[in-house]
Amino acid sequence: MEKIPVGVLGATGMVGQRYIYLLANHPRFEVTYTAASSRSAGKTYEEAVEGRWHIGSDIPDGVRRLIVQDANDVSAAKGKCRFVFSALEMDKDSIKKLEEAYAADDIPVVSNASANRWTDNVPMLIPEINPDHTDVIAAQKKHHGWNKGFIAVKPNCSLQSYMTPVFALQKAGFPVKRMIVSTMQAVSGAGYPGVPSFDMIDNIVPYIGGEEEKTEKECLKILGQVKDGKIENASGPLVAAHCNRVPVIDGHTACVSLEFDLPDDKKPSLEQIEKIWTSFRALPQELKLPSAPVQPIYVRHEANRPQPARDRDTDKGMAVTVGRLRECPVFDIRFVALSHNTKRGAALGGILNAELLDAQGFFD
Ligand code: NAP
Repeated sequence: MEKIPVGVLGATGMVGQRYIYLLANHPRFEVTYTAASSRSAGKTYEEAVEGRWHIGSDIPDGVRRLIVQDANDVSAAKGKCRFVFSALEMDKDSIKKLEEAYAADDIPVVSNASANRWTDNVPMLIPEINPDHTDVIAAQKKHHGWNKGFIAVKPNCSLQSYMTPVFALQKAGFPVKRMIVSTMQAVSGAGYPGVPSFDMIDNIVPYIGGEEEKTEKECLKILGQVKDGKIENASGPLVAAHCNRVPVIDGHTACVSLEFDLPDDKKPSLEQIEKIWTSFRALPQELKLPSAPVQPIYVRHEANRPQPARDRDTDKGMAVTVGRLRECPVFDIRFVALSHNTKRGAALGGILNAELLDAQGFFD
């Protein structure tokens, strides 16, 4: 099958580099266009990332000599790619305007940035949970008068570790009422150079700007319903988040206490919950999308798992690993969940979104 030519905006950054690496042998997408800030524009990709290539493998040959363009020059992408992945780090208003300019110029945008997450006709996708949210794209195009272009986004990386387990429970008929979530988030989540080493080694930083608000709110859109060309947020669960930066390179971990919206005699047992999680499959598995995990949720029984160093790469770094499932004396159950923040939570999650959109015919 012919490959679709794709661009990466922010290709020189932490997430952009992962895109370049992960797309190197992709069966359906081929990187033909890279763009970043004016600091990198005009250099070959290899020159632009010299001294800051973070992937433990060489720059793919197909991209090494591509000339990096200025991402602010939308016209430079015209005719070079059919859609772009956006991994830009700029102020929100600038990213929103720029992503809309690409879409207006017939170039769909599959974004990692938060700028368009709260636009009610922009789907915020976790393909195992809400693949039908792409139904709003027609209304989005109509609203803007766009022809081929549109914007689809990924949620924040901090909630990827527990949203799929929570959704699997809700889908099995066990609605969740309230959750308390404490995250331990990797330094790669802050980009490069990120948090100064002096603040990070031998330390924990109990604050990540804007992260708790995103963790508490984004789940409501993800679990929402498409209605009249918009996504109507779900009314729950109510989430209280504590987000912490910890000295881990990759892998966000979350400790979750959860209460079901059910009378005691209708609540699931721990055995039932484990079965729901391990047997959970969704559309990406049915469609056999290339980046989809074979099994979205893995359950570990060792008392000291999951751990970022040991479990973040489970099933291509796309699965959630859950452990320490036990009763909670305050709520109903508690568990620890882990996902890879720059794979599932960023670049590979974005690629999975694009694979879903491709399978649904949005790039035809
Ligand atoms: P990063 O390492 O700081 O990379 C930022 C990229 O944006 C670079 O390519 C940079 O180009 C480019 N850029 C910066 N200013 C620009 C400008 N004025 N015009 C055009 N391009 C500009 O950031 P990151 O960690 O990769 O994050 C990228 C995006 O993904 C952010 O929106 C972030 O919130 C989101 N995200 C990150 C993670 C994660 O785990 N890191 C997870 C989920 C979502 P130069 O190299 O030329 O400066």
